[in-house]
Amino acid sequence: MKLLLLILPLGLVLTLISCQSMRPNPIVNQWEARMNRGYLGPVTPDQLLAEIHLRRDLIPSGTVGRKYYRPMQPRYVTIHSTQNYSGDAYNHALALKRGALKANRRPGGNRIGYLTWHFTTQDDVAVQHLPCGEQGEHADFDGPGNNYSIGIEMCEHRGNDLALTIDRTARLAAYLCYTYQIPLSHVVPHHHWPRAGVSPAHKDCPHFLLDKGKQAGTWKWFQNRVKFHLERLVPGPAQRLG
Ligand SMILES: [Zn+2]
Repeated sequence: MKLLLLILPLGLVLTLISCQSMRPNPIVNQWEARMNRGYLGPVTPDQLLAEIHLRRDLIPSGTVGRKYYRPMQPRYVTIHSTQNYSGDAYNHALALKRGALKANRRPGGNRIGYLTWHFTTQDDVAVQHLPCGEQGEHADFDGPGNNYSIGIEMCEHRGNDLALTIDRTARLAAYLCYTYQIPLSHVVPHHHWPRAGVSPAHKDCPHFLLDKGKQAGTWKWFQNRVKFHLERLVPGPAQRLG
């Protein structure tokens, strides 16, 4: 009997601790208040694309980060944040086109000598840098994150509304899931992909959607936001962002 009395509260404490770790960061309440101001009713794929406010500003094919043509069938969407507190989406587009984001090309590491990814989002726009049918260099070197995933970088520059950036990213992820039949469980943070030979293998990225560097309640909340926009979609023809 005494033992039972001892075990019961311990179980309760453990349950409380596990609930705590799955609870999103309280800041999501402020983010949601900002996100929920605009139209959130049903949309066709074209209307969702219009909400995303996409600007295509591709790295010219055959140059810098697109020097090599590396086709891809997208199976995942990988979410990052820039951790650049001064550059906006247009600055990143320029840097990518100029080949300014160099990386050490090495066996088992970066394969082309440049960092590249598909989209950069900020509060008012999403800029596309790579066609979705080409591989980027943003996640895990020669791993599945680069071989099969569309990379989205969220801006963090001063003055940028992070809540609106996150919501635009969720809309874009939903649109990509719809057009490429990617399951919601395949929308992953950069943290998901281990990087061979780098410590720590799992990067704390995007840091503001992870909880102490782990996928927990805040990431779950973001996935639900993607699901929310996916469920707004009225089926119809969708343009592939190839
Ligand atoms: Zn990242």
